[in-house]
Amino acid sequence: MIPVNKPFLPPQQIYQSYLDGIWKREWLTNMGPLASDLELRLKEFLHVDHLLYVTNGTVALQMAIKALDLGGEIITTPFSFVATTSSIVWENCIPVFVDIESTSLNIDPEKIVAAITENTSAILATHVYGNPCDVDAIENIAKKHHLKVIYDAAHAFGVTYKGKSIFEFGDIATCSLHATKLYHSTEGGLLITKDPEILKKLASIRNFGISGFESFNQLGLNGKNSEFHAAMGLANLKYIEEISKRRQELSARYDDKLKNLKARRPIWKTDSENNASYYPIIFETEELMLKCKEHLQLNEIGTRRYFYPSLANSLPYLQPQQFEITDDISKRVLCLPLYYNLTNEEVDLICRLLLRIQNN
Ligand SMILES: *Cc1c(COP(=O)(O)O)cnc(C)c1O
Repeated sequence: MIPVNKPFLPPQQIYQSYLDGIWKREWLTNMGPLASDLELRLKEFLHVDHLLYVTNGTVALQMAIKALDLGGEIITTPFSFVATTSSIVWENCIPVFVDIESTSLNIDPEKIVAAITENTSAILATHVYGNPCDVDAIENIAKKHHLKVIYDAAHAFGVTYKGKSIFEFGDIATCSLHATKLYHSTEGGLLITKDPEILKKLASIRNFGISGFESFNQLGLNGKNSEFHAAMGLANLKYIEEISKRRQELSARYDDKLKNLKARRPIWKTDSENNASYYPIIFETEELMLKCKEHLQLNEIGTRRYFYPSLANSLPYLQPQQFEITDDISKRVLCLPLYYNLTNEEVDLICRLLLRIQNN
């Protein structure tokens, strides 16, 4: 069986060496030394000024919405993981969907402008598959209309745009360090902001809104992460360059072998490099996509329809809405297996099966 994804696991002794320290210190959570060290190292690695390590990527999104005091309508993309939308609803805001660009698969800035009303407070956009949104256009729109911007950068670990971390764009960017992501700490999330005031607020929210031994300064939650998770994050960080390099190689191999497949790849933003967090392809038709998916499944090869169905017409707590491009793309897109331990031979097999079935 070749699954669509396999989490990276560091050599067990390395994880064990961190556990030895936890047993010595008997400090398990509440921003212990490993969690703090992880924040420091990630700041260095990503070249960002401020960063918080939190429970997961979903809580990070909820905290971001809370910290920016958002209310009313938040303009967002229907082509993402459900947490992008559910966090808006969870924070008592109204998600207003606008369609995506057929090239990048990211939210279309022109359609954002058309959706702005007097109730709009923010834009929450996803860098889909790590591909940067049109951050320049979105920033201009936000400035002009006095809107906040949050980027769900769950897929964008390590991505840069014009030489800067993609996490540095928007008022707040969030990332997920879930086991299925490119870089992970089993469960985990990140919050990144350039604004020290927002950082302070986020740090307080992460710790129940506690400001002193007997005082509180705002509504908070428990957004902390444990030393055990931080240990996995620290261990995996030692391998991040190796992981990235291998995933790039595998992606390039797919690119090369699948040239004649009746499918295309999303168009990547210029001045940015693909971090190979996923390997999505958009087939010419849904019929061909389903045929390929089924054939791979018969050969014990897993794939995922990321992201199908559209968030705008599948959530039981929202009125269904159709969007021309999102509905069309989401029906035809498929993510192929991509993970550190995937072999060249396995990629070749997958490509052979795809090309054979398409010509049947
Ligand atoms: C994985 C993911 C999330 C949620 O992250 P968790 O850490 O699993 O809570 C949010 N948004 C997107 C786009 C994701 O892919």
